Amino acid sequence: MPLVLSNTLSKKREKFIPLGKAVGLYTCGPTVYNYAHIGNLRAYVFTDILKRVLILDGYKVKHVMNITDVGHLTSDADQGEDKMTKGLQREGLPLTLEGMGKLAEKYTQAFKDDLDKLQILIPDFMPKASEHIKEDIELIGSLEKKKFTYKTSDGVYFDTSRLPDYGKLLGSDQQSDEEHARLKGKTEKKNPEDFALWKFNDSLGWEAPWGKGFPGWHIECSAMASKYLGKQFDIHCGGREHIAIHHTNEIAQSEAAFSKKPWVKYWLHNEWLVLGAGKKMAKSGDNFITLTALEKKGYDPLDFRYLCLGTHYKKPLMFTFEALEGAQKARRKLVDKVLELKDSESKESKTRQKKYLDAFGKDLDDDLNTPKALATMWEMLKDKTLSGKDKYSLLLKFDDVLGLDLNGAEKADVPKEVISLAEERQRAREKKDWKKSDELREKIAKLGYTVGDTKEGYEISQS
Ligand code: AMP
Ligand code: ZN
Repeated sequence: MPLVLSNTLSKKREKFIPLGKAVGLYTCGPTVYNYAHIGNLRAYVFTDILKRVLILDGYKVKHVMNITDVGHLTSDADQGEDKMTKGLQREGLPLTLEGMGKLAEKYTQAFKDDLDKLQILIPDFMPKASEHIKEDIELIGSLEKKKFTYKTSDGVYFDTSRLPDYGKLLGSDQQSDEEHARLKGKTEKKNPEDFALWKFNDSLGWEAPWGKGFPGWHIECSAMASKYLGKQFDIHCGGREHIAIHHTNEIAQSEAAFSKKPWVKYWLHNEWLVLGAGKKMAKSGDNFITLTALEKKGYDPLDFRYLCLGTHYKKPLMFTFEALEGAQKARRKLVDKVLELKDSESKESKTRQKKYLDAFGKDLDDDLNTPKALATMWEMLKDKTLSGKDKYSLLLKFDDVLGLDLNGAEKADVPKEVISLAEERQRAREKKDWKKSDELREKIAKLGYTVGDTKEGYEISQS
């Protein structure tokens, strides 16, 4: 079965046919004014799965993920404050380019640590927006030559009325967008959808032919994508809120400047990670959870990766700690299985394994159906016709895509919390307080462990 992907541009599931030898893949990277939250990380786990499936299918992949360290305003539609400036104020750093660099460095490093912990393959290029100002200026210059731009008192804008197919990614009337409607008549823009290519700023910014300032967030992605992947490439990814504005504007300016249609062949968008009542987790909100916070609660980052794999990328991922606990149990069970099968001295048979390799590949080629692929994996582990070695071999092959570090699997340490509960239970037993001992056994069970009594005291195992 060929790889089939849901393309936001065509609004169809399409067979993947690359433009050339290596697949060009661009992912909108993080805005580094704060830590990434697990919603952002869901987006990057999704891109990582896509990349691993492409590799599994035999493609060479050239992956670019930018780092937005300037130019992203609090509203995607050119309104509000610069997010990096907000970060500088929050951390009491000077409002200078050096201050911005420091802030960006801190959160870029934290982001890279998160990628590492989640076994996300590091992109081939991670260009920083602040190091590509020259490319932005050149791109705006070429748009100016083609008469796609105009100047207002606060910046240089792209004239969307010059593109008859503006907004094709969203595919509905852009005018109906609430924010745009609100802005109508209140700005100097010619059309509500027009967007800033360059924003003037006397104090913070770079010199440009139009005046000192900084690039718009959209032009940064077009400039960096074309620098590393050329004027036309295969796949562009991001969260679904980017469809209406950021990616729509990237397409407009790139197709206008490069005269290549489509600029990008496949557009893939992940659904959000949401909290209770379907609320999107957002950096600007007060409800965000980081990967480090999960670790502090005793979870392995790969428990979160497993959780992500359990929901298709085009479906909302409802985050709860119960769901994360479920993922933790399943992943630990898997690790135990790997350790049990590792030393199997049985014989391997490629013929026996083929059925499951094919099924697993088919699941993933079906628009990256990771929940189905996980189900195939568990079904394989139950198959009595396979030898232990077959199962072990298959698990390692599956892990090339799942990225659960099964090759380096070690028995999970029993969390300190469980040990101290077991100790407390032991003391209760010594005092013959059977009621308390039972209550503590229950508590331990809720954490996924079983405590048994031995001559020496107690023994803990995973349930
Ligand atoms: P940002 O750092 O805000 O520019 O976002 C980085 C990436 O995370 C983008 O692709 C966003 O679309 C994505 N993203 C943001 N919030 C969520 C969320 N709650 N769930 C899934 N993806 C998200
Ligand atoms: Zn982008």
